[in-house]
Amino acid sequence: MDQFAPLDRPLLVLTPLFNRARRLLTEGRSTKALTPEDFHQMRLTGSVEYLAGAVTLTLATLVPDADTSDHSALLVLALIGVLLSALRYTAPQRLAVVRASILVGFVYIASIVAVATPVGPTPFFFLWPMLTTAYFLGRRDLAAYTAGFSLALLIGLLGNGGVNIVPVMFGPTFSVVLIASLLVLAVRERVDGLMGDLAYTASTDMLTDLPNRRTFEAACDAAIERSRRSKAPMSLAIIDLDHFKAINDRLGHAEGDRALRRFATILREQCRAVDFPARIGGEEFAVVLGEADGEQARILAEALLARVKEATAHDPAPLSVSIGITELHDASDTQDVLLLAADRALYEAKNTGRGKVVVAVPVPEARAMHTGHRLELLHSAPLPPAA
Ligand code: GH3
Ligand code: MG
Ligand code: MG
Repeated sequence: MDQFAPLDRPLLVLTPLFNRARRLLTEGRSTKALTPEDFHQMRLTGSVEYLAGAVTLTLATLVPDADTSDHSALLVLALIGVLLSALRYTAPQRLAVVRASILVGFVYIASIVAVATPVGPTPFFFLWPMLTTAYFLGRRDLAAYTAGFSLALLIGLLGNGGVNIVPVMFGPTFSVVLIASLLVLAVRERVDGLMGDLAYTASTDMLTDLPNRRTFEAACDAAIERSRRSKAPMSLAIIDLDHFKAINDRLGHAEGDRALRRFATILREQCRAVDFPARIGGEEFAVVLGEADGEQARILAEALLARVKEATAHDPAPLSVSIGITELHDASDTQDVLLLAADRALYEAKNTGRGKVVVAVPVPEARAMHTGHRLELLHSAPLPPAA
């Protein structure tokens, strides 16, 4: 039995369309993270928009029988637009200014299309701003500007008796521009997504999801720089799992992988907000310990050591780690000097029984050894060829 009255049916057909439109507007990223180059592009767009409008307006007023007083509203709009465009130049990072300027541009262009006889249905006037909006700003903005454009057009047409637009030409033109804008938006969102995936893959260790060595090096350099400027202490810890090869040999590589992930989870949990943990090698991890001198770093490392022991005691592969620590001592210490010192401390921890923390200060010879190149960690350097 048909439970819907005939009048409800068109609404039922429209509901999925409305839902789809709402999803389109609310889901996913709607505005891309704008770079200075993007703002430069938008300045350029703003200029072309208003230049196009100004030329059109001039053409319209040059028409012999045109009543220039008809265009006073347009002139005011153009003036606001030019003002906002100028603001785009002087305050290029203000997104609100960019948005307002594009909206005024849309209303302006729609008004010209609606009232100025010589304009015709040329797509040029709203093609560029719409594509820019789709590319730089996103879904909500595109929707807002399309609505602004349509409303201004409607008001202009009604006020003007609807005589200027050739609907047969205007409709398809506007539709094509809108579809092109949506395509640009879709392509941009896809590219942004891929770029995000790429950046994640390049910076992250896939087994443990921790930052990889490359990311660690950048973070470590930044932390050294921060510490130098703020005079706050910082330390560096290198952590190596003990007898890890035996775990692989005894339980298999898959269990070894599981143990690495397990350790990474514990490490992440133990780190404070100012710390930066990473996997820098096979079973080797490192942590930049922000706002901690050597002694505080030792306390944190001891806590990690105890937590690892406790948390994995009943695992198939109970874990033990050795930790070497050094603190930033001298303003001229580089990452290589710190890594070398922490690595020496780790060596000592390994050689004196494992499962312990050793703190070392960066030694002068380590500084002297610094060549300006990244030093491979000593114990992960290839062995000299057998005699
Ligand atoms: P030590 O206490 O001296 O550190 O002994 P160790 O056995 O931990 O050290 P060694 O350097 O001899 O062995 C490290 C092992 O880690 C060898 C390598 O096969 C294993 N390994 C490195 N990367 C991975 C990985 O991604 N997954 C697994 N399962 N094992 C790995
Ligand atoms: Mg090891
Ligand atoms: Mg190792």
